[in-house]
Amino acid sequence: MSAQPETSTLYRIGHFIAGKTYAGSPSGTAPVYNPASGRVAAEVDLASAGDVDAAVKAAHAAFRAWSETPPLKRARVMFRFKELIERDMDRLARVIVAEHGKVLSDAKGELVRGLEVVEYACGIPELLKGEYTEQIANGIDAWTMRQAIGVCAGITPFNFPAMVPMWMFPMAIACGNTFVLKPSERDPSLAVELAVLLKEAGLPDGVFNVVHGDKAAVDALLDHDLVRAVSFVGSTPIAEYIYARGTAKGKRVQALGGAKNHMIIMPDADLDKTADALMGAGYGAAGERCMAISVAVAVGEATADALVAKLKPRVEALRIGQGLDETVEMGPVVTAVHRDRITGYIDDGEAAGAALVVDGRGYQVPGCEQGFFVGGTLFDRVTPQMKIYKEEIFGPVLCVVRVPDFATALELVDAHEYGNGTAIFTRDGQVAREFAHRVQVGMIGINVPIPVPMAFHSFGGWKKSLMGDHHAHGPESVRFYTRQKAVTQRWLNHDESAGAVFAMPTH
Ligand code: NAD
Repeated sequence: MSAQPETSTLYRIGHFIAGKTYAGSPSGTAPVYNPASGRVAAEVDLASAGDVDAAVKAAHAAFRAWSETPPLKRARVMFRFKELIERDMDRLARVIVAEHGKVLSDAKGELVRGLEVVEYACGIPELLKGEYTEQIANGIDAWTMRQAIGVCAGITPFNFPAMVPMWMFPMAIACGNTFVLKPSERDPSLAVELAVLLKEAGLPDGVFNVVHGDKAAVDALLDHDLVRAVSFVGSTPIAEYIYARGTAKGKRVQALGGAKNHMIIMPDADLDKTADALMGAGYGAAGERCMAISVAVAVGEATADALVAKLKPRVEALRIGQGLDETVEMGPVVTAVHRDRITGYIDDGEAAGAALVVDGRGYQVPGCEQGFFVGGTLFDRVTPQMKIYKEEIFGPVLCVVRVPDFATALELVDAHEYGNGTAIFTRDGQVAREFAHRVQVGMIGINVPIPVPMAFHSFGGWKKSLMGDHHAHGPESVRFYTRQKAVTQRWLNHDESAGAVFAMPTH
């Protein structure tokens, strides 16, 4: 694809460090595309190790005062931040559409899901309360408290430029930490918009910083001695790398990886409702969601035949176009490289013998001929040996796998290397309960196609979908972004003496 400038002047996206834009000495720039037009819209600076050092040092300098700021005052910044996001919702959503390509209503949806984490962070005075035991022994009391850990870093993927960073920094900051965010270089503008709003909300300079970049910037964060914790969300190979390198440097790391989410469709499911649910879960955001359903496991041949018959016309009728068109259901994918990767998978599935029911290759949107579009694609008779089954495609491609019974369906889900989310559609409560109880996956939907936990629960997959011990947001985030301290206290009277005790103290 020949990259055409979007306008005669490309805008430049720079870092945001210590409360202002920061020029630094970038190691280079990367193009940022408008995926609907296929044109380059901006250039983003790629941070050098020196730029990353400046961001981390700014965050470190701000840490002491911020961590000493009472939780109630930290919460008040979050309350104001929430109001500002609500005020600017439409404008922010348009920034997302321009660089990511998803439809406007979906961009607003991810902002709202991020906002819910901000709302949860507003309750930080309650969440940080420790435990207390009076009279743990004669004249002795004990309590625990949770304290901030220092500079935390977030490294985030392209597919949710608002929501995924907002899984991280509202909780990290509310807990008293300072933060350096390295957003995806493919849609980097929203991170800076959030930094500007945090400043307007009253967040002291240096508490939240944004550095743009690629592997070099990430490595500089992973290797920096002042970074105490790293939250990563992205593909599994990079998650494994981040986890290994970050923990080897003594940091706590949570690294959320890729997914291949299965939905089991039982013979008793309402197939019209199931097909509707699969449309949103498989093709919403052009399948570029870590909780997208990419595999429909139909139990029984009759279920599969009926399901495919219901899906085919729906997939063919998908309204595809640029994300600001309110009649559109699915936008483009993020880059030409990603589009070609997806169509490569469709080639592969066809060659491997899967039945290509709807083919989305070569999809053209009038007026957006250079855009990165892939049409909705449906495969039937996919088998576990096929590459399109084994690997994450991250595009609008749904694979139907046929199995004879529930036990085989469950085995299939459990045997897959990913374990992010899964769902079952059925009218049988006992089967649903058995599924939720036994399946080796982190997030389960029962007649819910995309079971993303709300902000006050935690989000995380199992197996190769998450490395580390803590899930994102919710109560687990308080544990991840704080350290516990236990205090045991005794005050002796002036005339009292405990004397020397050489044995282990016992009751
Ligand atoms: P990605 O792994 O390519 O990039 C994620 C981040 O890592 C970006 O900030 C990128 O700059 C950085 N990065 C890329 N290559 C790197 C390297 N070699 N060394 C160090 N850093 C590197 O992911 P993506 O394509 O932006 O996002 C899509 C992936 O994210 C999918 O696999 C999707 O399933 C996953 N994802 C997972 C979740 C989840 O909660 N588990 C949520 C959203 C997305």
